[in-house]
Amino acid sequence: MSQEDIQHRLDTQWHKIKNMKIKEIYETMAYGPAPENADEAIEFLESHQRSFKLFINGKWTAPSSGDYFDSINPSTKAHLAKISEANVSDVNIAVSAAKKALPEWVNIGAHKRARYLYALARQIQKHSRLFAVLESMDNGKSIRETRDIDIPLVARHFYHHAGWAQLRDSELKEYKELGVIGQIIPWNFPLLMLSWKIAPAIAMGNTVVLKPAESTSLTALLFAEICKQIGLPNGVVNIVTGHGKTGAEIVNHKDVSKIAFTGSTDVGKIIRRATAGTGKKLSLELGGKSPFIVFEDADLDSVVEGIVDAIWFNQGQVCCAGSRLLVQESVADKLYKKIKVRMETMRIGNALDKSIDIGAIVDKGQLNTIKKMVKLGVDEGSTLSQPSWSCPKEGYFYPPTLFTDVSPSSTIAQEEIFGPVLVAMSFRSHKEAVKLANNTRYGLACSIWTENINLALDIAPQIKAGVAWINCTNVFDAAAGFGGYRESGFGREGGIEGLMEYLKPRINDSFTDTPVKLAISKTDTVKNAEVTLGIDRTTKMYIGGKQARPDGGYSTVIKSAIGSYVGDVSKGNRKDIRNAVEAAHSNTNWSGKTGHARAQVLFYLAENLAIRRDEFANRIVQMTNQSTKKAMEEVDLSIERIYYYAAMADKYDGKVHHTIHRNVTLAMPEAIGVMGVICPDESPLLGFISTVIPAIAMGNNVIVIPSENLPFSATDFYQILETSDVPAGTVNIITGHKDELAEVLAKHDDVDGIWYFGSTDGSKAIELLSADNMKRTWVNYGKYRNWLDKSHGEGEEFLKHATQIKNIWIPYGA
Ligand code: NDP
Repeated sequence: MSQEDIQHRLDTQWHKIKNMKIKEIYETMAYGPAPENADEAIEFLESHQRSFKLFINGKWTAPSSGDYFDSINPSTKAHLAKISEANVSDVNIAVSAAKKALPEWVNIGAHKRARYLYALARQIQKHSRLFAVLESMDNGKSIRETRDIDIPLVARHFYHHAGWAQLRDSELKEYKELGVIGQIIPWNFPLLMLSWKIAPAIAMGNTVVLKPAESTSLTALLFAEICKQIGLPNGVVNIVTGHGKTGAEIVNHKDVSKIAFTGSTDVGKIIRRATAGTGKKLSLELGGKSPFIVFEDADLDSVVEGIVDAIWFNQGQVCCAGSRLLVQESVADKLYKKIKVRMETMRIGNALDKSIDIGAIVDKGQLNTIKKMVKLGVDEGSTLSQPSWSCPKEGYFYPPTLFTDVSPSSTIAQEEIFGPVLVAMSFRSHKEAVKLANNTRYGLACSIWTENINLALDIAPQIKAGVAWINCTNVFDAAAGFGGYRESGFGREGGIEGLMEYLKPRINDSFTDTPVKLAISKTDTVKNAEVTLGIDRTTKMYIGGKQARPDGGYSTVIKSAIGSYVGDVSKGNRKDIRNAVEAAHSNTNWSGKTGHARAQVLFYLAENLAIRRDEFANRIVQMTNQSTKKAMEEVDLSIERIYYYAAMADKYDGKVHHTIHRNVTLAMPEAIGVMGVICPDESPLLGFISTVIPAIAMGNNVIVIPSENLPFSATDFYQILETSDVPAGTVNIITGHKDELAEVLAKHDDVDGIWYFGSTDGSKAIELLSADNMKRTWVNYGKYRNWLDKSHGEGEEFLKHATQIKNIWIPYGA
């Protein structure tokens, strides 16, 4: 059925209602259709003869293959337009255009870029109805949502980032642009995802090549036209349409400095692996199975409307949809009844009808996936509830659906369905609620419903998710970061955190390709070589606060820089790493401490190191054969560095964002969890301190692999840890072959993050192997810091990588 036919049908229905008596309308309470006029959108399609080229270097360019695919209106199955399929040579041309545009875009400066972003925001606002109608036609989402949510948020995003463009040179002067950015977006919020990607990227002076999802390219192409209208310099924004293969060409292009991707976790993992070791920055917004937690004191009628927004908004095709309802047992049946009543009153139909609640599913493939998952739920023994009404037949529709009697381990409770399907489970205690909520590989969002703010704020930090909505759900704003924990990906979009994804510290340019060489002192060397002779120096490892023999029973001889014997060190293996991870997990003492409490321990640690200054310096001399003076300097710098992180432990804190809603939005840095820290091989003590201390200062528990050749500063440090009130399991140290042990850590499913300072190959292996559970990684790609230089070895950059931001939304208003 064509768009025109649908319009006619809606007109006829409207005519019928118009002819009813007012009394009859009141009696039936029937909604008449309220069709939105699609003329302007159709005019836009016709202006391109319903056949769209690629937007490269400011021009419409035919695809080199000559291939096109169809874009379909999912409400009606009507053909909307033909879209170009970009292949590798089109992607090459687009990336070259973006690369060529880069210097001029950087050089025009912050203010001029701000004016371009402002112009984009204004034009989007001016054409907001056209964008909303086109989006609804292309995606099937209701016009109420595109008109009132998607497009206003798009405009807001460009306004907000016009501001950031202006402020870049004053507020972010320590950072610089990355270069050409490759961006790949999904179909569920086509224009909104485009704005989340393009606005911060170009505001920070980057240029972009963006690929929309195959089924929803139209608003991106209309946006391209807006870019032309405002005179955005050619090549700053390039839109290449196509399928997954086009996306993969962007990912693999050597001149792309960063990939920003939103989509499925499976494709996210492919991209993580494809970019491993390349140095391309990566942000991944992936899937979710977000818990919607209802405590017994919640206002259940508000909860029901919250559920409508959580799982039936955008037909449930929302990465952060509250798709797992966890309700306290005492009110579960009551709530299920209310939900079923509400489901009956939901209206489904053509996305352009202003009176509907639920539009169409994006395409036949997605509809079939939903049907398959629902069948699986029934087969697994869960109870299905759907409204008594049936869906329109002409498009891809699916009714609101509730599953009860669901087992937490069932497929529908674990896998993302990406449709209007709510899966409900009950809990008894608060503890059980948290356990159930975290019983998922994802960690995108959670929604907490209770009238008790103390309870809500107690639960929010315990849920492993990037966003916590209290008594609200699916609220977004450009000023607040959005993004996940665990397999929901990493990086944030929106807020200052989102901006950071498009910048790099200027200091990175001064890192070197070879490690900093420590000067050997002839006189001190002889003295110290003599000291070590004849002493048994086999050090153990340090696990769960105790010294531990290696599982394999092997040790390695360590020699000094001039080849003299220094001692034997235990050779750790896979089993030792597993024990250390277990010890780190069983220590809940450290992460629960306040910043002040952690600071006190760190100050104490520094003082205890100061007491043993000579001993530690002597050890450095033994291993490195530097002069005693240099070694003393390294110890002193280490003490100072611990002081710095002790000072920051209660000062590196969050923000309260100015969002557009009546909300206090708290951006809280939280510890990553259990982290692997693979120390640099240079500066034995300072390299260890500079990497381990910031990680623990933020509340992480760590498994440390010290320098392979110079391990004794780390093993001597056991005694400092033991005498400084550091809880057992906070710092675990495994000595041995650096890259072998690092790989075990990278593969370990219970390790949440990993830092690696070593070779290019080692960096690649870490990124590759970390993809399975989507660890946060920070690697040096074989670029070396001078740890003695404060600007290289110390600072907030380390704390940023030791934390992830959780945004907690707390609405207010009587
Ligand atoms: P995908 O992850 O497959 O697609 C997202 C984007 O990536 C699209 O533009 C897609 O292109 C592109 N793409 C696909 N393969 C590659 C690749 N190898 N390299 C680079 N880019 C690629 O999601 P789908 O659209 O197929 O949806 C599948 C499932 O993903 C859904 O059922 C849902 O569970 C989840 N999903 C999650 C989203 C989220 O926001 N977290 C959003 C959308 C989907 P194209 O679509 O043109 O083939």
